[in-house]
Amino acid sequence: MSKGNLFVISGASGVGKNTVLKELMARRDDLLFSVSATTRPPREGEQEAVSYYFVSHDTFRQMIREDAFVEYDDHMDNYYGTPRAQLEDKLSRANVILDIEPNGAFRVRSQRPDATLIFITPPSVEELERRLRSRGDTPEEQIRLRLDRAAWEIAQGEKYDYVVVNDRVEACVDAIMKIIAERAD
Ligand code: 5GP
Repeated sequence: MSKGNLFVISGASGVGKNTVLKELMARRDDLLFSVSATTRPPREGEQEAVSYYFVSHDTFRQMIREDAFVEYDDHMDNYYGTPRAQLEDKLSRANVILDIEPNGAFRVRSQRPDATLIFITPPSVEELERRLRSRGDTPEEQIRLRLDRAAWEIAQGEKYDYVVVNDRVEACVDAIMKIIAERAD
């Protein structure tokens, strides 16, 4: 039996989604983060079982065979998936936020029509490009790949329940807090 509500948040690379998510979790203690499994290597500062479950391709394929995912997708040369057991466990206790891309979001919606899909969009594609470049650690080829992917993702935004522009983090968080309160309180 689910106790909590399910919120799916998507947004292109560089849109500032991680900052927004952190702030949301800090403001509401009844929000749990769904930890995905991925085959991509950890980035600096990422923790096993907190940021992701970092697994090998073999383990990921084994989990697919065991039907261990609510949804999974391969993008940017790696697999990402939402493990079913941890999601069910968290939902039995609280509201849950999934940070997944649009293909996964729509698969979740088809299984759980009550899920709320929220899309975070940049003020403009030019601003997204500026933010991606200002990180200073992403090779040009990766930037192009991410911008192409971002253009596709932004076009998917219209199928979400809500689209929130991340111009100022504070305003973006406030808008999402309102959406969550409408569903969860
Ligand atoms: P990153 O490698 O930057 O952490 O994530 C890349 C993309 O993968 C992001 O758009 C993120 O939302 C998405 N993602 C993370 N976990 C999952 C998942 O479990 N399923 C799907 N479909 N996408 C995911």
